[in-house]
Amino acid sequence: MSVLHPCDPRCSDATWELDVSEPNEATFDIVILGGGSGGYATALRAAQLDLSVALIEKGKLGGTCLHNGCIPTKALLHAAEIADQARESEQFGVKAELIGIDMAGVNSYKDGVISRLYKGLQGLVGGSKNITFVAGEGKLVGKNVVEVDGKRYTGRNIVLASGSYAKSLPGLEVDGERIITSDHALTMDRVPSSVIVLGGGVIGVEFASVWKSFGVDVTIVEALPRLVAAEDEESSKALERAFRKRKINFKVGKPFEKVEKTDNGVKLTIQGGETVEAELLLVAVGRGPNTANLGYEEQGVKMDRGYVLTDERLRTSVPNVYAVGDIVPGLQLAHRGFQQGIFVAEEIAGQTPAVIDEAGIPRVTYCDPELASVGLTEAKAKEQYGADKVTALNFNLGGNGKSQILKTTGFVKLVRVNDGPVVGVHMVGARVGELIGEAQLIYNWEAYPAEVAQLVHAHPTQNEALGEAHLALAGKPLHSHA
Ligand SMILES: Cc1cc2nc3c(=O)[nH]c(=O)nc-3n(C[C@H](O)[C@H](O)[C@H](O)COP(=O)(O)OP(=O)(O)OC[C@H]3O[C@@H](n4cnc5c(N)ncnc54)[C@H](O)[C@@H]3O)c2cc1C
Repeated sequence: MSVLHPCDPRCSDATWELDVSEPNEATFDIVILGGGSGGYATALRAAQLDLSVALIEKGKLGGTCLHNGCIPTKALLHAAEIADQARESEQFGVKAELIGIDMAGVNSYKDGVISRLYKGLQGLVGGSKNITFVAGEGKLVGKNVVEVDGKRYTGRNIVLASGSYAKSLPGLEVDGERIITSDHALTMDRVPSSVIVLGGGVIGVEFASVWKSFGVDVTIVEALPRLVAAEDEESSKALERAFRKRKINFKVGKPFEKVEKTDNGVKLTIQGGETVEAELLLVAVGRGPNTANLGYEEQGVKMDRGYVLTDERLRTSVPNVYAVGDIVPGLQLAHRGFQQGIFVAEEIAGQTPAVIDEAGIPRVTYCDPELASVGLTEAKAKEQYGADKVTALNFNLGGNGKSQILKTTGFVKLVRVNDGPVVGVHMVGARVGELIGEAQLIYNWEAYPAEVAQLVHAHPTQNEALGEAHLALAGKPLHSHA
């Protein structure tokens, strides 16, 4: 079988046009509302299984991830890494100079990546005889009917995949100029002199990292007691140490009170009266489900604060109506959407796929240094199994040759159930996101430390740090103390 990934150059060369069909009243095996990660993954898998699909999208196929999320942010982060490498080149005996950041050039590089992937994806969808792509805004007008511009698309099954939007806070009005969200930040044509990032979650710390590398004075303001608070506490602490070293200012445990515009920018007041001023304010306080006025509730779909409630098989309260992606409570990640889409297509095709373990979904934060994790935090594992039934081990990247070569610091932390499998892997350091593949196999296959310790890791790689952590946990450390 030959499989074309969207970024395969053969896809971008293809001359597919999306088949924008206009049936007046058509019936499909599946009608999908939203063509982002969750929606298009459902469509592609369903088409492979020979189900007929209508994929309805009001914006651009690929959704947030491709156009306003994962891909553009990671392109910016890569440009930021190159800026840092130029700035720090002398540490490696290389004489280079960072003269400046040309945002037009950065944007053209970023947009080039998006457009190649977009073309590839259009090729995949347009090339499938089983998928009818419908361009337009859809609304659920019956339990199995979506209407777009007066035309009705009936599905034996419906998949809701309408995604999410950047949230704000009461009293905080986004104007797209001085008070912006990630959508605006991704299309900026200049490097600001200073930015306040409101929110120290994944999106906030990634933008803080990019801007600092581009020479911006950055201050993160976070209401919770630590940055990336969903991660293991040790990972948060390591990131905070690294950010301090990079001179990224941050204030944690500081809830937002108000913001005012000044002559030169914005003044943010934290509860208690402390103020911070900057040219721009990036609001990165999370993403809300995009479900308002789409007919979901009217058709009897049970919701909670705008999220669509499903069971573990992603069924909503209405028979034959499923939901995938960011509108389903849980991790808002593209690869979760992909997997849920594949799951739902297979479920509808009668294949009874295995339920997705939410904790087994890998999580990567791509700031510098990166954070990567899968499974339970140490605190969660102790809560779940009992404090005396869990052992945690931290292998410092100081003992890892490749990390020394890269001049990065951090760790691989393992959490295991005593006499049982590894239930959590947490990593901090440059490039550790690339190690998450092995970590997720270890977690999802419920590997014991002794089993992983038998596997040989190539030297010198950062991957060895994972191997060494398992050697240590199995009682036979190599480059660390027992
Ligand atoms: C700045 C940023 C960085 C991110 N980085 C990462 C990352 O590195 N890794 C990661 O895994 N995730 C990342 N994410 C999250 C990721 O983008 C989302 O989890 C993912 O896109 C969710 O997929 P989805 O299909 O649920 O929704 P979306 O991708 O939002 O797609 C929903 C689609 O539905 C369409 N739609 C909505 N309503 C209608 C309607 N009425 N009719 C027709 N179409 C409609 C929308 O136009 C949209 O295209 C990031 C997000 C942001 C904002």
